[in-house]
Amino acid sequence: MPATSVAIIGAGPAGLSALRQLADSKRAIRVEVIDSNPRYGGQYWRHREGDPFPESDLDPTSHSSTDIRINWHLSTSVWQIENVAGSFRIHTASSSGEKSSTVEVEKIIIATGATERTLPFKNWTAPGVMSAGALQSLAKEYQVIPGKEIVIAGSGVFALPVAKTIKEVSSKLGADVNVTVIEAQSIFRWWRNSFAFLLNPSKILEAVGYLFFMKRHGVKRLSKRIVREVKVETGEIVGVMAVKVKSDLSSDTTGEMLAADLVATSFGFVPDMTLASILGLERKNHNDDAVVVVDSNQRTSLKGVWAAGEITGIGGHELAISEGAIAALDIVQKSSKSWKWRRFRQQLFARGLAKIYPIFGGWIESLDDSTILCRCEEVSVGEIKQSARELGADSARTAKLFTRAGMGLCQGRICQRNVKEIIDFVRKDSKNVSDANRETVRPIGGVVTLGGLSD
Ligand SMILES: Cc1cc2nc3c(=O)[nH]c(=O)nc-3n(C[C@H](O)[C@H](O)[C@H](O)COP(=O)(O)OP(=O)(O)OC[C@H]3O[C@@H](n4cnc5c(N)ncnc54)[C@H](O)[C@@H]3O)c2cc1C
Repeated sequence: MPATSVAIIGAGPAGLSALRQLADSKRAIRVEVIDSNPRYGGQYWRHREGDPFPESDLDPTSHSSTDIRINWHLSTSVWQIENVAGSFRIHTASSSGEKSSTVEVEKIIIATGATERTLPFKNWTAPGVMSAGALQSLAKEYQVIPGKEIVIAGSGVFALPVAKTIKEVSSKLGADVNVTVIEAQSIFRWWRNSFAFLLNPSKILEAVGYLFFMKRHGVKRLSKRIVREVKVETGEIVGVMAVKVKSDLSSDTTGEMLAADLVATSFGFVPDMTLASILGLERKNHNDDAVVVVDSNQRTSLKGVWAAGEITGIGGHELAISEGAIAALDIVQKSSKSWKWRRFRQQLFARGLAKIYPIFGGWIESLDDSTILCRCEEVSVGEIKQSARELGADSARTAKLFTRAGMGLCQGRICQRNVKEIIDFVRKDSKNVSDANRETVRPIGGVVTLGGLSD
């Protein structure tokens, strides 16, 4: 019998979990694993070159099955997928965009993960302001701590593992680093997730573990505050102004100045829908994000395509692992009952987290019109507002056409969500599904040179 061919796009927790199940199935399968990173592991597992893979269970080198053939395509980005008579032609390019090639498969599991969400504030384009994920990656992957007085500001649980990594790596390096976590929401909002905690008792231990760690290592925590401004003197960050978030989720205009030489921000994650939109998969709004619609087996609206991980809704690596396993088990027609129960518990927990950490209201009102919103093309908040008010922009896509916001190297991955909210704010439109579907369509989903195209 000819081998089934499956492409896994994205080798993070979801993709690697799918790979594990395919390998364990003892079926004759050819798997093409494609990831733009030079190493597998996704955003969650960022081990160093030569270090053992942190999760031995999902380490692809531990697969012993001889029935499965795994072709690895690392440092390789998918920029287009064609659906030709029931099979898929996946066009890829090397990271530099220069070398392109095509892979043909019958089935696809899309697990392209998420990008970080940041909110702008005064001077957020200064050197020394970065996303919490970038700080995490510098510390975890490269053992670099780029500051001595670090402020991690934003909303959501991600600040906790980042603060922990910074403290652990800096003590290993013998560096004296102070870390302050500024959280927009109150810790008391956790009661809203008490039911989900009961179904996920390990999460209680995890949360308590983080709080103990913070206390023991002198990590300062300020809640119900946001960073309004980064103070810069002679090109260097010297402090941040933290203001109080009020009970109606608006924020004060004045606050306290805290010492800082590096600021990392994190306001959650946004599903990376680039390839999902190229394939025209059905999407829906979920916690204000556009996500891929899947059935109970992670099948998408397109026959032969499954989706798993953050692109079906932000939920963390454990949920991504469950979803990847369910998708793969469906492909090999095996039962995934126990994974579905895990997924149910984890989804409940993720839903609770989304309720605990909404983006604080008033972030748009608090911004000066001169603040840069799209960093690649240097488009200001005022220009985005003007495109909605005077030129008729009604979505991030139309605002892009008027202002170039989202046309730069990151292709809107950083600013698009914020542009959309400013447009909605100016036009007072409600966020709806069609809008979410419209925002993310890019016919070419990655960097590819003309030379690469002609290969
Ligand atoms: C910057 C960042 C740092 C994070 N760090 C942590 C952390 O330390 N701890 C934590 O609990 N959670 C972290 N998260 C949250 C994380 O997204 C999830 O917990 C988990 O990694 C989700 O797994 P996933 O498989 O859905 O996606 P991911 O782990 O994001 O994996 C998706 C993979 O798809 C690849 N990909 C995307 N598009 C393409 C394409 N067109 N072609 C080829 N490959 C593609 C990416 O390179 C990536 O490796 C982080 C998220 C981000 C964005």
